[in-house]
Amino acid sequence: MPVVSAVNLERIPLHGLFVHRVTLSSALDAIDAFSTLGRPHHVVTLDASMCVMAQTDRELKTIVSNADLVTPDSAGVLWACRRKGEALEGRVSGVELVERLCAQSADRGYRLFFLGAAPGVAEVAAERMRAKYPGCSVVGTRDGFFEERDIDAVIEEVCGARPHILCVAMGIPKQEKFISKHKDSLGVPVLIGVGGTFDVLSGAVSRAPSWVQRLNLEWLHRLMKNPRKIAKVLTLPKFVWQTLRDKS
Ligand code: UDP
Repeated sequence: MPVVSAVNLERIPLHGLFVHRVTLSSALDAIDAFSTLGRPHHVVTLDASMCVMAQTDRELKTIVSNADLVTPDSAGVLWACRRKGEALEGRVSGVELVERLCAQSADRGYRLFFLGAAPGVAEVAAERMRAKYPGCSVVGTRDGFFEERDIDAVIEEVCGARPHILCVAMGIPKQEKFISKHKDSLGVPVLIGVGGTFDVLSGAVSRAPSWVQRLNLEWLHRLMKNPRKIAKVLTLPKFVWQTLRDKS
């Protein structure tokens, strides 16, 4: 059987990084192929704030540049690609990926582990996914506020649950660095950094109405719900400036 690999997907250079030309469906196909292979595969959901951060954080830049799959996760990334004449079909966000993987879990036999968010949030997100998608197998959950000294216990807990897909929701760049540092010890074929996904799936944070999403204004909705997001929004002018100067 031929192995479908994200390596065969077109890479669009962006801000010294790259994003794959994927839709939700082709990203899920790539993840499906990864899940059957032994070695760990890192999936990054790239947004504008990550592009800005990677300009000054060399470790993050190296991690994103070496990821197996990089999906376009923000209106800003889509705009920057369009400006280069590389229009993409739409966003492929962490929330959508995790929800679709839960929906496919019973059919495809995926075992998922939810790691991250405040205590109790990942568990509620898992319960909701199990209720919505019968047979959905979330084999473990753990919050993302643990001390350095607890990392070995976290790794042991994840390994013991033997998931195919580890969803890590600890914010950018913490989740990307956690995945990169520990992916070889975790022994999980697919590791995805998914930001605030469990907050959304648990119902703690609502998604914007679909008309707001269509207008690419979900970031504004999230900002109004959570003013701490202001730091992220403040990176946007820098992202625009970087895009206008981007020669990659
Ligand atoms: N979080 C965590 N551990 C931390 C810091 C944050 O688990 O040490 C969680 C936080 O509770 C939230 C998520 O990481 O659920 C970050 O969500 P956000 O939408 O801010 O993600 P980003 O915009 O960075 O993708």
